[in-house]
Amino acid sequence: MLYHAFLIKYAEIAIKGKNRYLFEDALVKQMRIALSHVEGEFEVKKEQGRVYVFCPEEYDFDEAVEALKKVFGIVGISPVVIYEEQGFEQMAADVVSYMQSRHPGYNGTFKVYTRRAKKTYPMTSMEVSAELGGKILEAFPEASVDVHEPQLTLSVEIREKIYVYSETIKGPGGMPVGTNGKAMLLLSGGIDSPVAGYMIAKRGVKIDAVYFHAPPYTSDRAKQKVVDLAKLVAKYSGPIRLHVVNFTDIQLYIYDQCPHEELTIIMRRYMMRIAEHFAQKSGCLGLITGESIGQVASQTLQSLAATNEVCTMPVYRPVIGFDKQEIVEISKKIDTFETSILPFEDCCTIFVAKHPVTKPNLNVIHRSETKLEEKIEQLMQEALNSTEIIDIS
Ligand code: ATP
Ligand code: MG
Repeated sequence: MLYHAFLIKYAEIAIKGKNRYLFEDALVKQMRIALSHVEGEFEVKKEQGRVYVFCPEEYDFDEAVEALKKVFGIVGISPVVIYEEQGFEQMAADVVSYMQSRHPGYNGTFKVYTRRAKKTYPMTSMEVSAELGGKILEAFPEASVDVHEPQLTLSVEIREKIYVYSETIKGPGGMPVGTNGKAMLLLSGGIDSPVAGYMIAKRGVKIDAVYFHAPPYTSDRAKQKVVDLAKLVAKYSGPIRLHVVNFTDIQLYIYDQCPHEELTIIMRRYMMRIAEHFAQKSGCLGLITGESIGQVASQTLQSLAATNEVCTMPVYRPVIGFDKQEIVEISKKIDTFETSILPFEDCCTIFVAKHPVTKPNLNVIHRSETKLEEKIEQLMQEALNSTEIIDIS
C-alpha cells in the first residue's frame, strides 16, 4: 500500500461558524457515498478542522482518487504517507525516504512546511522545518531551498503520528451536495440536461429527476439511456430519485385536439406541470432544465416564456447562455457525452411538427389548451399514478 490517507482541502469563500459545520458534515457524507463504490475500506473523518480519508486496508488508489475528484466542495486531494512518531531522527529518516520514493533524484527548489497539531512536541514548527530541510539537502545535493516560491512543498504534520505529503490533486470545487436544498431535473436523453443537472449539483443542490417517455413510440433502450445518464450524473450529485412518467396518452390527446405546430409548446407545458407536481411532493425548491436560448424552436424567449408560465417554482436553466459547443465540452468532461449521443428516439422528437411555432402567443396557447378540458385532468392523474420510481445510487 502506497498512501495511508488523503488530506482533503476545501475552501468555498469564508465558511464560518455554524455554516462551516454544515459544510463539513455534508462534505463528509458525500465523500462516504462516493467511496462506498470503491473497493476497500475507507474512514472519512473530521479532525481538528481538517477532513481526512484513512485507508486502513489495500485499496485501488486510482479509483479512490477518481471518486474523490467528483465530490463537490473538494478543491484539493493530498495523498498522505503516515509514519509512527519515534523521535526526530526517525522522522528525518522517514522524510528522506519519502522524498526518495516520491521524488527520486529531486533537483528543484523546495521548502518544508511543518504543522504541529501535537503542541507538546519538543521542537517548534520552524525548528522542525529547518532541520528537515537540512537533512533533505544532504540527501539531495542538487536540490535547493526556496521558502517563497518553491517548486515543491513538503508538508509535515506532527500529530499522534507523522503525516507527510507533497502533492495535491485538483478537486472539482463547488459546494457539497446537500448544503443548498433540492431541485427537480427534467432529464431527457440529450446532451444538455445532464450537464444542467451537474452544474446545479455543483452548487450544493441535491438532485431528483423526471423523465417523460412515450412507449411504444419510445423504446426501453431510450429509457435505459436516461437511467445510464442519471447514473453518470449521480457520480457527482450522489443518489438521484428518478421518476419515469408515461407520457404517451397525454401526447396523443394533445396531438388529436390541438394544432400541430403548437404541439411541442403545449406538451412542454404539461411536462413542467407534472415535474412541478413531483417536485412539490418531494420537497424540491425549483426545477432544472437544459434549455439554451435559441437552440431549437421551443427555446426562443417566447417559447421559454410560454413553458415558464405554468410553473410556480423557479426554473433554473444553467446552460441558458451557452453555445452548444460549450455544453458539449462540459458533457465530455463529465463523461455523459458518449451516452447522450446514442441514437435513441426522444418523446419530443416523435410527434414534432414540420413547422413548429417559434413565437407562441400565450392567448392562442391558452385557447388551444381549452380543447383539452374534457380528458386532460384524468390523463394527468393516470400519468402521475403510473409513474415508476427508480432510485439511482
Ligand atoms: P437535451 O439535450 O437536454 O435533451 P434539447 O436540446 O434536446 O435538450 P429540448 O428537447 O427542447 O432540448 O428539451 C429542453 C429541455 O426540456 C431538456 O433539456 C430537458 O430539461 C427537458 N426535456 C425535454 N424532453 C424531456 C423528456 N423526455 N423528459 C424529461 N425532460 C425533458
Ligand atoms: Mg432533448
